[in-house]
Amino acid sequence: MILSLDWSYVVEMAALDRSRLAPEPLPSAVGVRQHRRRAAGLSVVWAVILGNAAVMVWLWIHGGNWTLKSSGDVLTSIARITGLLSAYLALIQVILLARVPALERLVGFDRLSVWHRWNGHACLDLVLAHVVFSVWGYALLDKFSVPKEISTMLGGGIYPGMITATVGTALLIAVVLTSIVIVKRRLRYEWWYAVHLLAYAGIALAWFHQIPTGNELVLDKVAAAYWRSLVIATLVLIVVFRLVAPAVAALRYRLRVAAVVEEGPGVVSLWITGRGLDRLHARPGQFFLWRFLTRGRWSKAHPFSLSAAPDGRSLRITVKALGDDTARMGEMPIGTRVVAEGPFGVFTDGSRRREKVLLIAGGIGITPVRALLQEMRGDVVVIYRVVTAEDILFRKELDDLAETSDFELHYIVGDHATDEGRTYLSPDHLREVVPDIAERDVYVCGPPGLTNIVTRHVREAGVRRSHIHAERFAL
Ligand SMILES: Cc1cc2nc3c(=O)[nH]c(=O)nc-3n(C[C@H](O)[C@H](O)[C@H](O)COP(=O)(O)OP(=O)(O)OC[C@H]3O[C@@H](n4cnc5c(N)ncnc54)[C@H](O)[C@@H]3O)c2cc1C
Repeated sequence: MILSLDWSYVVEMAALDRSRLAPEPLPSAVGVRQHRRRAAGLSVVWAVILGNAAVMVWLWIHGGNWTLKSSGDVLTSIARITGLLSAYLALIQVILLARVPALERLVGFDRLSVWHRWNGHACLDLVLAHVVFSVWGYALLDKFSVPKEISTMLGGGIYPGMITATVGTALLIAVVLTSIVIVKRRLRYEWWYAVHLLAYAGIALAWFHQIPTGNELVLDKVAAAYWRSLVIATLVLIVVFRLVAPAVAALRYRLRVAAVVEEGPGVVSLWITGRGLDRLHARPGQFFLWRFLTRGRWSKAHPFSLSAAPDGRSLRITVKALGDDTARMGEMPIGTRVVAEGPFGVFTDGSRRREKVLLIAGGIGITPVRALLQEMRGDVVVIYRVVTAEDILFRKELDDLAETSDFELHYIVGDHATDEGRTYLSPDHLREVVPDIAERDVYVCGPPGLTNIVTRHVREAGVRRSHIHAERFAL
C-alpha cells in the first residue's frame, strides 16, 4: 500500500517494474580477480600499519629511550613504549571509522567495525599498561611510595599535561565500558554514541600530554615531526571523509523522498530520487548511512541497505520498525531532503568466488538479498527465513525474479520457539535443503543473533570461512 507519493514520480516507478527484474549477463570470472585485488590491497594496508609501528619503535630505540640500567629504568621504558603505541592505536582507531572509501571497499564496513572494536580494547590495554608502568617505574626511580608518586605526578607540576592525560584516560575507559555488549544493550543508542564521541576528546587530551611530557618527542625532532605528520594526516582524513564528502554529496545528488510504500506489518519502503545517481556507483547488496533532514530526525544517521538494484534514477530502502526512529518511517513527509553517506559494504556479487551461490536472509535481512538477486546470475539458491507467512516481504517480486532468473527459492516459515522451528537452518537442515552447500559461496544477512548462529551452522555444514559473506544488521 502506498502511504504517500510524489505524483511526478509515478511515471518513474511504472518504468521501473520489468526493466528492474530483467536478467543481466552472467559475470565472467566470478569475482576471483576482485578477490585477488582485495587480498593485495589488504596486504598493503597491513604493511602500512605495521611499517608505521616499526618506524615508531625504531625512532624510539634510535633516540636512546630504551634504558636498562635499573628496574626503574626498565619499567619507565616499558611505560613510554606502551604510551607511544597506545597513541598510535588511537589514531588507527579514528581512521578505521573515518569512512575512507578505499579502505571501506577493501575491508568492508562490517569488518572495519570489528577491527575498530578490537583495536579499541588493545588501545585501552596499552594506556592502562602505560599508567601502571609509569607510576611504578617513577616510584622506584624517585624512591617514593606508589601513592606519593601518584600525588607528585598529578599535583606537583613536575610532569606537565598529567591532568589532561588522566581525564583522557577516564574518557577512553568510559567509551570501552559502554561498548561492552551487556552494558551497550541497556543503553539507548544515542547515549552510547554520545559517549563514543568523547573518545575524540580523550585522544586530543592525550596528545597534549604526549607533546610536553613525552621525552622522546621533546628531544627528538625527527620523531616529533613524524608524529605530527601522522596526527595531521588523521585529522585531514576525518575532516574530508566525515564532514566535507557528505556535504558535497548532499549538494551534488539532491536526494529527496519521493514515495513511501507499506510493504507489510511495520515495514515500509522509501523511494528516494535525486540527480545523477549513477555517479554514486552503488551496487546491489550495499548500504548507506541515511540522514533525513526533518525536525527530530536530522541529527541521526541510520544504516539501511538498498532493497532494489540502483537504476541511476532512484534508490529504494525498506525499513522495519525496530526502535523509535524506524517506527516513524511511515510518516516521512514526501519531499524530505536526504543526505546519504556511502555506498558502503562488500556484501556484493563482487565478493563472490564461486559460480554456485546460496543466499540466506532472516527477517528484514531480505533487503540486500532482494537487491542482489537482480544482479546475481548462475546457480543461485535463496533461503528466506521468517517467523510467520505475514512477515514475508517482496513475495511477488521474489517469485517473479525466481521465475525470470531461474533460481531456487525456499521460504522457511516457523516460530523458533517451537521444537520444529528450532531445527530450521541447523547444519542438517541446511544440508537437506541445499545438498551441495559445501560447493557454494554463502551470503547471510539478518539481525545479529540470527546472522551469528546461521554463519556458525553454515560452517558446520562444510562451507569454509572464506566462502561465507555475512552482513549483520548492527554496528
Ligand atoms: C549494515 C546495516 C544495514 C542495515 N540495513 C537495514 C535495512 O535494510 N532495513 C532495516 O530495517 N534495518 C536495517 N539495519 C538496521 C537499522 O539500522 C536499525 O534497525 C536502525 O538503525 C534502528 O534505529 P532506531 O532508532 O529505530 O532504533 P533504536 O531503538 O534507537 O536502536 C535499536 C538498535 O538499532 C541499532 N541502531 C540504532 N541507531 C543506529 C544507528 N544510527 N546506526 C547504527 N545502528 C543503529 C543499535 O544496534 C540499536 O541497539 C541495518 C543495519 C546495518 C548495520
